[in-house]
Amino acid sequence: NETLAIESQKLSVAGQLAAGIAHEVRNPLTSINGFLQLLRDEADEKTKEYLGIVFSEIKRIELVLSELLILAKPQSVTYKRINIIETLDHVSKLLNTNAILYNIEIQTEFHERELYIRGDENQLKQVFINLIKNAIEAMPHGGTITIHADFNSHNKVQLMFKDEGVGMKKETLDKLGEPFFTTKTKGTGLGLTICLRILRDHGADIRVQSEQGEGTTFHIMFDGVQSSERKKREVLQR
Ligand code: ADP
Ligand code: MG
Repeated sequence: NETLAIESQKLSVAGQLAAGIAHEVRNPLTSINGFLQLLRDEADEKTKEYLGIVFSEIKRIELVLSELLILAKPQSVTYKRINIIETLDHVSKLLNTNAILYNIEIQTEFHERELYIRGDENQLKQVFINLIKNAIEAMPHGGTITIHADFNSHNKVQLMFKDEGVGMKKETLDKLGEPFFTTKTKGTGLGLTICLRILRDHGADIRVQSEQGEGTTFHIMFDGVQSSERKKREVLQR
C-alpha cells in the first residue's frame, strides 16, 4: 500500500481553457437568473414548480463556474510567511459544523503551535477545504478525520489529511486530479484539480495513499520557514 505522487501536468490544458470560458458564461447566466426571478413572481403554481427545477440547475452551473474560476490564475495572490497551524485550525473549525451533521469528528494533531511556510493563505484554505470536504463525502456512515502537521529534519513541513472512508480503487487513483473526473453523482471533479494547481504554485508536493473500505490519506509537503521561536531555541542550544 505505497503512496502515490499525483502529477500536476494533468491539470494544464482542459482546466485552464475552461476557466476562460467560465468567465464569459457567468455574466449572461446572472442576467438569466435575474429575469427568471421576475417571471416567478407572476407565475402560476405549475410554472413555479418548473422554475424551481430551472433554478436548481442554474445553481449547479454556478457551482461549476465558480470552481473553474478558482482554477484560473487568481488576480491577487500574495505570498507571505504564514503559520499553517492557524490556517488549519481555522479551516477545521469552519467545517466542523458541517461534519457533525454527518456524524464525523475532525481531530487535529499538532505537535507545534507554530509551523511557518511561505504561501497565500486564501488559496491554501481552498486546498484544505477541498480535501476535508472529500473526506466528509467519503464517510457516509461517519467516523474520524485526522489532520496532522509537523516538520522534519530537512525543514519540510508535512501535513496529513486522513479519513476512514470508502477509499479508492486503482482506476480512481490513476485519474485523481484530472479536470472533471468524479465518481459522485453531484460532483464537479474540479476539487482536486484546484488543489493540484495551488500546491504546484506553492512548490509543494502531494501524495495519496488509499485502501478500499479502509480510508484515504493525503500527504502534503512544503518547504518550511523557520519560526522565530525555533530559531531562538537553536541559538540558545549552540
Ligand atoms: P468531486 O469531489 O467533485 O468528485 P474531486 O476532484 O474533489 O471532485 O475528487 C475527485 C474524485 O476523487 C472523487 O469523485 C472521488 O472518487 C475521489 N476522492 C477524492 N478524495 C477522496 C477521499 N478522501 N476518499 C475517497 N475518494 C476520494
Ligand atoms: Mg471534491
